[in-house]
Amino acid sequence: MPVYKAPLKDMRFVLHELYDSTAIAELPGNADFTPELIDSVLEEAAKISEEVLFPLNQVGDREGCTYENGVVRTPTGYREAYRTFCEGGWTSISADPDYGGQGMPLTAAMMVEEMFCSANVAFGLYPGLSHGAYVALKHSGSEEQKKAWLPNIVSGKWTGTMCLTEPHCGTDLGMLRTKAVPNDDGTYSITGNKIFISAGEHDLAENIVHLVLARLPDAPAGVKGISMFLVPKFLPREDGTLGPRNGMQCTAIEHKMGLNGSATCAMSFDGATGWLVGEPNKGLAAMFKMMNTERLSVGIQGLGIAEVAYQNAVAYARERIQGRSLTGTKAPEKQADPILVHPDVRRMLLTSRAYIEGCRALAGWVARELEILEKSDDGDAKQAADDFASLMTPVVKAMFTDLGFEIASLAVQTYGGHGYIRDHGIEQYVRDARIAMLYEGTNGIQALDLVGRKLPQDGGRLLTRFLDPVLEFIDAHQDNDALAEFLPALSQALEHVQEATGLIMEGAMTNRDEVGAASVDYLRLFGLASLAFVWARMVAVAAPKAGEDGEEAAQFYRAKVQTAKFFMERLLPQTGALLAAIRSGAATMMEFEDAAF
Ligand SMILES: Cc1cc2nc3c(=O)[nH]c(=O)nc-3n(C[C@H](O)[C@H](O)[C@H](O)COP(=O)(O)OP(=O)(O)OC[C@H]3O[C@@H](n4cnc5c(N)ncnc54)[C@H](O)[C@@H]3O)c2cc1C
Repeated sequence: MPVYKAPLKDMRFVLHELYDSTAIAELPGNADFTPELIDSVLEEAAKISEEVLFPLNQVGDREGCTYENGVVRTPTGYREAYRTFCEGGWTSISADPDYGGQGMPLTAAMMVEEMFCSANVAFGLYPGLSHGAYVALKHSGSEEQKKAWLPNIVSGKWTGTMCLTEPHCGTDLGMLRTKAVPNDDGTYSITGNKIFISAGEHDLAENIVHLVLARLPDAPAGVKGISMFLVPKFLPREDGTLGPRNGMQCTAIEHKMGLNGSATCAMSFDGATGWLVGEPNKGLAAMFKMMNTERLSVGIQGLGIAEVAYQNAVAYARERIQGRSLTGTKAPEKQADPILVHPDVRRMLLTSRAYIEGCRALAGWVARELEILEKSDDGDAKQAADDFASLMTPVVKAMFTDLGFEIASLAVQTYGGHGYIRDHGIEQYVRDARIAMLYEGTNGIQALDLVGRKLPQDGGRLLTRFLDPVLEFIDAHQDNDALAEFLPALSQALEHVQEATGLIMEGAMTNRDEVGAASVDYLRLFGLASLAFVWARMVAVAAPKAGEDGEEAAQFYRAKVQTAKFFMERLLPQTGALLAAIRSGAATMMEFEDAAF
């Protein structure tokens, strides 16, 4: 049986020591969120994650969801867990108090989300999608719509979905065919087929609020002709009670590689009543509000799975005995040494750990900027935060999910053949992690977003929101002995980013394929440089507390510094290889004859 303990110590380190949570408490509306309160919320989140959600993770995988005549049932225990989840207020933690939310800073909410993803990512998708619907409606809905729909979504009484994908269009939403015909009473009749709709139908909540992308009769072709509609499963009456069933149904659920506890639904809309959200033909922009939040959340799914997979790999490596240490027996009382003594096993564990802790610190930075964007009343600070979060969204989504899958696979490798066997519950993490690289825009599309949109945006201003603080940090720590061995590696990674950026911008002017060909390598290169920066920042905080003695607190900080060293020496050098690949350009792939594939 797998194990999971929420990594509260590391989360607190990121929240309070690395980024100083008291500054977050000073933002408007945050006065109540003292470090003590945040810690107690994290502890409660750890409890529900470990005790309620985690025990259902394997059950959900084994049983999956079932479909019968349009009715979808979630796995055993999900309904009760969802009730407990809602009663505990977990659907509302970061939502606006005006709609019944608790207004918790995103910095802490993101940590809570990570715990839910570690414990049970399939379950987490139900409230996760609702949160996305909340964000889209809050940003684009009318006041009347917000009042009417948001409180029930925030409380978890109703759940939400995003209905974009159709059988013939996933990435290329410009081809979308679902129609919306205006009715005399101001509503619209929605007709069309959507596929792969997460939480499209289930038995957890009494109503489901679908946000559906569709075309108006006079809409221009392509993405400029897409509008967003709110289409509930049940039409609420004036008094708030549920009225008749709307004209839609779930026609099937998918049988998938993983994420079995999450219902992935084919939805048929047949003249269903819907309401326009936002302006006509501006639906994609409105949906992007939701998608950006969702993309960060999907990145956190990668991190959450990586954490739980790593914890299990460590536990197994301590316990499993095979062979003897290359440098002499370490456990003479046993028939063999624990596999933890072997360099290759340690390589796998430290690789996982260095990425996980780096990603958590990077996510903390992004969440902090999002919190400033949401709550600050300083216009310049908000603009800077918006730029930074936009730049980092594709990086968090794609790099974290790629790493989530890689780390889950390393955990299987650590278990050897036992990792491949279902009973241990480790192979599930590989299957569950795989989807995050695909949905919310494939990771290839994230890379194109980074190089094609974010880098050139506003004359390259977004990138400066990353480069400037790194350069300032390097400058400020020139005389810091603790960082002496880290800064050269960070500087070199930064140079690699700058050279690669220049090459891509140059290539963009002559041949757009150069941009596409460099995109995935660039995203990883940029992501590694971002991790190098947060690792250097962590060293700056941890090194003075690392001490020499063996006490537990000092050990935590020592491990931080040692993990940073591992990251800089064993993982960061990949930036050089990535830069070499980018330098080679698009020719090798684009000149290959199509017929020869
Ligand atoms: C379990 C699951 C849950 C999902 N949940 C939802 C949901 O709740 N709501 C929803 O609307 N959708 C959902 N999806 C759909 C998901 O978002 C899409 O599958 C995804 O966006 C990719 O679309 P596609 O599968 O049609 O692939 P395609 O668009 O056909 O892409 C195939 C390949 O081509 C590449 N590609 C496509 N276009 C380009 C391009 N211009 N440049 C470079 N490469 C390109 C892609 O990166 C990919 O590698 C879900 C899917 C799954 C499997």
